[in-house]
Amino acid sequence: MIKILEKSKCSGCHACVGVCPYGCITMQRDEDGFLYPVIDESSCVDCKLCERVCPIINKKESCKQIEDISTYAAYTKDNNLRFNSSSGGIFTEIASAVIEDGGVVFGAAFTENFDVAHKCIDRIEGLRELRGSKYVQSTIGNTYSLAKQYLQDGRKVLFTGTPCQIAGLYSYLGKEYDNLITQDIICHGVPSPMLWRKYIELRESKVGARTQGVSFRHKKTGWKTFSIHLAFANNKEYIASISKDYYMRGFLSNLCLRPSCYDCKFKDKIRQSDITLADFWGIQHVLPEMNDNKGTSLVIVNSKTGRELIKRISDKITIKSANLDEAIKHNTAMTCSASCPSDREAYMETVRTKGIKRATKKYLKVSFALKTKRWLRRFLKK
Ligand SMILES: Cc1cc2nc3c(=O)[nH]c(=O)nc-3n(C[C@H](O)[C@H](O)[C@H](O)COP(=O)(O)OP(=O)(O)OC[C@H]3O[C@@H](n4cnc5c(N)ncnc54)[C@H](O)[C@@H]3O)c2cc1C
Ligand code: SF4
Ligand code: SF4
Ligand code: SF4
Repeated sequence: MIKILEKSKCSGCHACVGVCPYGCITMQRDEDGFLYPVIDESSCVDCKLCERVCPIINKKESCKQIEDISTYAAYTKDNNLRFNSSSGGIFTEIASAVIEDGGVVFGAAFTENFDVAHKCIDRIEGLRELRGSKYVQSTIGNTYSLAKQYLQDGRKVLFTGTPCQIAGLYSYLGKEYDNLITQDIICHGVPSPMLWRKYIELRESKVGARTQGVSFRHKKTGWKTFSIHLAFANNKEYIASISKDYYMRGFLSNLCLRPSCYDCKFKDKIRQSDITLADFWGIQHVLPEMNDNKGTSLVIVNSKTGRELIKRISDKITIKSANLDEAIKHNTAMTCSASCPSDREAYMETVRTKGIKRATKKYLKVSFALKTKRWLRRFLKK
């Protein structure tokens, strides 16, 4: 299927598609819904530009030094924004500052039918579309070339996404721009869009209405014990803790990640981005005064550009310095790839042929101890 790079290594960043001067590469979905480049060999002139731009084949060593990295725990002072963000709402604060300066912001948004794709936002109210983690791979589409146009026009650009998407952007651009700011995340990995589609269809069939809103990180029961929440056109809603929900259990058990996520080339303390955002898991041990279960972001500032942006929003946020090694002790996804379960393929095959419910029941059995605990809790409640 793919000639540029071995399929299991390709992160789907779209850099090769954007760079091909003859438009002979298209991204096509495999059976799990992940996009891979496919070359139309009849129009390919073998210039090898696609290979030269691929950030996996040509992984760049960062010139940044570990001593230049600053680490913080932070959250916005705006409680409503914090509630609606995955961790401390720092993304919206930095994005708002860029838009106030006349810039534009790229990030992951839901499409009309709840797929996930990158888009460009130039109004502060529009940032709500990018707010919140979407646990599905986001399609880059033509956003690298759109970002390049804004950069060439001299407009400030904040590009956000997974570390592989940021690496793809830098490779695609091929040169430094003073008006570019990048923000990545600590990334557990991205689940299969096919699984997400099956899940949405299952939920919609249960309530008999179309989906109208999704939050993967609903904080009704707090930041640490978050839930998935779906709102439907008939005013019904679905909310479930991550330990009970079919989709979140598949995600957190690593059964449905993109193959490249099991051997991710971007796991490093030194990042290409200007700012790295994450959940500050373990905050209760590191900075207990920042631990109120409403969401605290881990903010890792990797460059002078990143430092200036965090300084610019300092009156909008509560922020405290932390030690990088202590901060990532509770967040292994910073430096380690998720391990691939031996029954991943069998699970995905069952999802494809028999659906997500059957696959969950077969491969994600609830232990007797957990069943008893849940039964006891229900009993005591009564
Ligand atoms: C797939 C995925 C895996 C993650 N894994 C971890 C992890 O292992 N450990 C950890 O601490 N944090 C992880 N995070 C990051 C964390 O969930 C928050 O995004 C981060 O703390 C920023 O939160 P916030 O409150 O500042 O902003 P929010 O408003 O919650 O985040 C919005 C930002 O997330 C980006 N985003 C949302 N969905 C996607 C997507 N599908 N692809 C690319 N970018 C996306 C948006 O573009 C925007 O930049 C993950 C996020 C995603 C999307
Ligand atoms: S070798 Fe050149 S022409 Fe062929 S697909 Fe790659 S970039 Fe396009
Ligand atoms: S450039 Fe990106 S999409 Fe193309 S082969 Fe490399 S990783 Fe895959
Ligand atoms: S784990 Fe690595 S390859 Fe997978 S989405 Fe995250 S950055 Fe990309």
